[in-house]
Amino acid sequence: EYVNINELFNYILDRFDMIIKKEEDPKKKKYTIERFFTKKDLWVEIDTDKFTQVIDNIMNNAIKYSPDGGVITARLLETHNHVIMSISDQGLGIPRKDLGHIFDRFFRVDKARSRKQGGTGLGLAISKEVINMLGGQIWVDSVEGKGSTFYISLPYVPYEEGDEWDDQEDQN
Ligand code: ATP
Ligand code: MG
Repeated sequence: EYVNINELFNYILDRFDMIIKKEEDPKKKKYTIERFFTKKDLWVEIDTDKFTQVIDNIMNNAIKYSPDGGVITARLLETHNHVIMSISDQGLGIPRKDLGHIFDRFFRVDKARSRKQGGTGLGLAISKEVINMLGGQIWVDSVEGKGSTFYISLPYVPYEEGDEWDDQEDQN
């Protein structure tokens, strides 16, 4: 199905904003989401549920592996044949030696650090499978102690004026 990824990405982040607004437990982590999005509608062929699952996992990681009160920055832009999304946090970051492994099944940075956070180490492996299935790519850029940025690119064919099919009914 063709989905306006601008609207969908905003909608997924709106839910994370709503959770934080409703959250009354003072022990629950607080965060702020900043968005830098193109204003254009970007129609991309994806599975809405699977894409949502990927963004949910990256967002949950950004929250889980960041201290209280962190800022999460989401971006959406288009290039000539891709849409690119990114989610940045100001959290623990990932050690350089582990950067090549975090998309592996069951891999978790520093078992001791990860154990008390809960989780299986499958989230990013599944995310990568989904994004590759959609013809896209997922990668990470991270500095230990500073934060991480996860990027997703998906193939995108820009809609050009004059691309629409001639309306057959009008011609008959
Ligand atoms: P699950 O998602 O299955 O509940 P998980 O979060 O441990 O468990 P992944 O989402 O696959 O598993 O992430 C793999 C590992 O990569 C994590 O255990 C964590 O060590 C590291 N990681 C992922 N995202 C971040 C992040 N934003 N900041 C720091 N480390 C991260
Ligand atoms: Mg995870």
